[in-house]
Amino acid sequence: MFSEQFNHPLIQKTVSQSLLVSKDAVEQCIRKSTFSSQDLPYLLSPHAESSLEILAKKSLALTRQRFGNTMQLFIPMYLSNECFNTCTYCGFSLEYKYKRKTLTKAEIKHEASLLAKKGFKHILLLTGESPKHVSTPYLKEAISIITPYFSSIGIEVQPLEQSDYQTLIQAGADKLTLYQETYHKESYLKYHTYGLKRNFNNRLDAVEKGAKAGFYNINIGSLLGLYDWRYEAFAMAEHLDYLTKKYWKAKYSISFPRIQEMIGTFHEPYPISDKHLTQLIIAFRLAYPDLGITLSTREPKSLRDNLAPLGITTMSAESSTSPAGYSAGNYEEQFQTNDNRSLDSIISMLKSKNLDPVIKDWDMSLMPN
Ligand code: SF4
Repeated sequence: MFSEQFNHPLIQKTVSQSLLVSKDAVEQCIRKSTFSSQDLPYLLSPHAESSLEILAKKSLALTRQRFGNTMQLFIPMYLSNECFNTCTYCGFSLEYKYKRKTLTKAEIKHEASLLAKKGFKHILLLTGESPKHVSTPYLKEAISIITPYFSSIGIEVQPLEQSDYQTLIQAGADKLTLYQETYHKESYLKYHTYGLKRNFNNRLDAVEKGAKAGFYNINIGSLLGLYDWRYEAFAMAEHLDYLTKKYWKAKYSISFPRIQEMIGTFHEPYPISDKHLTQLIIAFRLAYPDLGITLSTREPKSLRDNLAPLGITTMSAESSTSPAGYSAGNYEEQFQTNDNRSLDSIISMLKSKNLDPVIKDWDMSLMPN
């Protein structure tokens, strides 16, 4: 499994090398017409920052070449804010004593029908991590209820076993999203202070279990702000290289979520600037030409508009981060979003940039039996 070969010292060494690469070496790298993950130390180096404009043009051209003008749109739907973990940066953390909510079957159906009426065909189901409230049978039932409304159903839930993932795929899920939060184990244990989530390796291996179970779409990521962004970048690259080599049939994507405001007070120890986020997106686009890159409503409107053409392939819209959030449920949210525009407004923005919003580009009927 990936945890057995996850190489923290090597990642740390790569970060140090990236910080030290010379201006000349970076300029030489930038002149290349194709890139690979071997180029990441140059693309993510401090000297590459002054060439972001040139790199952005290359990233834009490569994205159009590989993905055309398309931008896939999806909406997240929270099934529950119950959680048995303490994660110091999250609004669902066990320590907060407010009324928790897990949607009933009728509520799932109602919420799903509202989102389908808005025009969404791709949905991402999210929960806190509470095996008692959001068990595999509960998730299976939720997926079965919403299957008639959507052409693609993603899940972002607690790490599960391969057999659980198989159950959910059979029920209709086709995309697995699971963020490691931070690949830096020491920091991971510092910010995950209680609960099953403290098991770093269990989380690290869960994506692989999903790949073995047969997920066709797999999305990984780090929650940026918990540790040094370059370390997270090289660790994600290592994870991605491992997965693509071993489970080559799956389609991979990556997210770079940044920590946002929530009910508690958490100050991210390693904030990442807009400029470095942009550098990260561009570097991954160039190093992995076929990689999907997702940008959520965590980011503000103006930044999303500017980043959309540069390498992004999937965006969320109209997101709520609380259960029953689209039915005015008034339950606690996981974090605040920063782009509250309607689906129509996001579509108009994309069209103004000559991008083609895609509400549906995948259908469960395309899945091999
Ligand atoms: S990050 Fe996930 S596991 Fe941690 S408190 Fe939030 S919902 Fe629970």
